[in-house]
Amino acid sequence: MTKTVSYSESIQLPQRRALVVGMGVTGLATAGRLAAAGWEPVLIERSADRRRGGYFICLFEAGRYAAERLGILPFLHDRNPQGRTFLTDRKLRSQRALGLKDLPGSPWMLLRSDVEDAAFEALPDDVEIRYSTVPVSVDADGDGVDVTLRNLANGSERTERFDLVVGADGVRSSVRRLVFGPDEDFLQSFGYMIYAFQYEGQPRGMRTGQSLTLVEPDRALWGFGFSDHDPTMMLSYRTHDPAGERAKMPAERLREVFSDSPLGETLSDVLEAAEHAPSPLWDTVEQVHMPRWHRGRVVLVGDAAWCVTLFAGMGVSAGLIGADVLGSALERHPEDVDQALSHWEETMRPTIENYQQIGVTQQDLFVPRNRRQIALRHVIAWLSRRRYGHVVLDRLLHGEADSRTTDVVLPPAPSSNNGEHMLVA
Ligand SMILES: Cc1cc2nc3c(=O)[nH]c(=O)nc-3n(C[C@H](O)[C@H](O)[C@H](O)COP(=O)(O)OP(=O)(O)OC[C@H]3O[C@@H](n4cnc5c(N)ncnc54)[C@H](O)[C@@H]3O)c2cc1C
Repeated sequence: MTKTVSYSESIQLPQRRALVVGMGVTGLATAGRLAAAGWEPVLIERSADRRRGGYFICLFEAGRYAAERLGILPFLHDRNPQGRTFLTDRKLRSQRALGLKDLPGSPWMLLRSDVEDAAFEALPDDVEIRYSTVPVSVDADGDGVDVTLRNLANGSERTERFDLVVGADGVRSSVRRLVFGPDEDFLQSFGYMIYAFQYEGQPRGMRTGQSLTLVEPDRALWGFGFSDHDPTMMLSYRTHDPAGERAKMPAERLREVFSDSPLGETLSDVLEAAEHAPSPLWDTVEQVHMPRWHRGRVVLVGDAAWCVTLFAGMGVSAGLIGADVLGSALERHPEDVDQALSHWEETMRPTIENYQQIGVTQQDLFVPRNRRQIALRHVIAWLSRRRYGHVVLDRLLHGEADSRTTDVVLPPAPSSNNGEHMLVA
């Protein structure tokens, strides 16, 4: 039976089906938002089940505005409202320092799975989810898309038609590869390796709820503390050969990179735990740059379209904003999906370009290049503990409007005379 959705008294449209590929933050949020806009989303995920755990993430004000509109925010809480950060070294000489919590946009400290769980919770019960399923071909024509889906559990394939396909399948997106071209055309490497994992208990030198940074030229350990959860760790280092490094065994490689002088207690505990971490992330750092994020009725959202990198700290926020604005654009242009996608892309571009720029400029904050940058960090830490120094730093950090604090919503369409379309189910 075809359900009918009314956008106004005069427009009656059959309910349309959207395939959403990928069940990360972006895919879950997009499926929920499309359902709210009157679409019938079908969500597919390569894995056999939902992901659990994950690494630390910051959710900035801009992302929280979107999470609120998406109905996700009530299922989230800041896991570290105090968020104190310490600058330390191998000899455990620690001092209070500025941390991520001090950045504009008062970030909430969370696990990636917190946002995925919240988006899952907010999803209507009747959204169809298919695990162990991937797209193997995507053929778009003027008014729809034929997608061949493979069931990885039994190898079967079948072709289905959708009115829209959303690729939310991450930085190495297969939708992007199938429709837009090979990864090499769009990925820009930053030249780092990262290893991120959840730590059980606390390493020596790190108290519950405290975060720490142990930075050395071209390598770093960041420990992200929570007040109600074990911390997560991120080890990273710079390399000229990211692809070659990615193929190596991480635990061994990390020991080689960090073991040229005595480790000290914290690094020693973290490297030991890294060897047994249950589901670590071992990856390169890449930004995705594309001239267009949609072709016909296929659109990429989230890391698949623009991966801003962990250095920006805005990937989750960007995915939520992208999902929310996409839903608004489809509501605004109920009869013209092409126009909706163009309007969505125009709205998103400036924000995403800003986030990508933050990713470029903040990389040295995560992994300093030299001793001068480390010395500067000590000066900033010292200043931040002085009454007037703190005022100066506060002005520097929070003086101007920052895209991390800015709400992103769809502006009125210049060519549209539709006005606001209220959904009457
Ligand atoms: C260490 C680290 C720290 C970070 N810190 C922050 C932070 O502080 N703040 C922040 O906002 N962001 C942060 N990010 C970035 C953020 O995690 C990502 O931008 C965000 O999770 C991307 O979500 P996504 O849903 O677009 O993609 P993903 O999370 O990559 O999800 C893609 C989904 O698609 C599935 N999939 C892949 N291929 C297929 C296929 N062919 N078919 C079906 N399904 C498929 C995957 O299994 C996965 O479930 C960090 C990232 C890292 C690595």
